[in-house]
Amino acid sequence: MPYSYDDQNIFAKILRGEIPNDTVYEDDHALAFRDIQPQTPDHVLVIPKGPYVTFDHLATEGSDDEIVGFTRAIGKVCDMLGVDPGSDGAGYRMISNAGEHGVQEVPHLHVHILAGRPIGRMIAREA
Ligand code: 5GP
Repeated sequence: MPYSYDDQNIFAKILRGEIPNDTVYEDDHALAFRDIQPQTPDHVLVIPKGPYVTFDHLATEGSDDEIVGFTRAIGKVCDMLGVDPGSDGAGYRMISNAGEHGVQEVPHLHVHILAGRPIGRMIAREA
């Protein structure tokens, strides 16, 4: 079923400048800002500027420029945070929740970059 995008979601409002945010990085394709309820010392959300609900939505319907731009922005944020293991950073976890089973609260694609402490196992063994 095709996605429909709700332009009243909170991240759409952040993109339009209607709600303030703590910006870490911005370019033509993406905005990265600190999560309002951080779960790790560094908890940054990276969102595309286009109206995509989930990662699969962007990957399926986004232009090559949008997909590459969003991916490059994630790389820039990891570099800025100094967490990429390739540059001796201590590492991070990247999560993108989608839909009901993924427990996605905000219906605008976002990637969580979680870093700054050991994060533990990827998922709990039981929900
Ligand atoms: P999800 O469960 O959709 O993957 O996560 C949504 C995330 O957005 C949560 O971690 C939540 O703390 C964050 N969030 C929700 N509203 C706001 C907001 O207004 N500003 C910021 N910076 N983060 C928000």
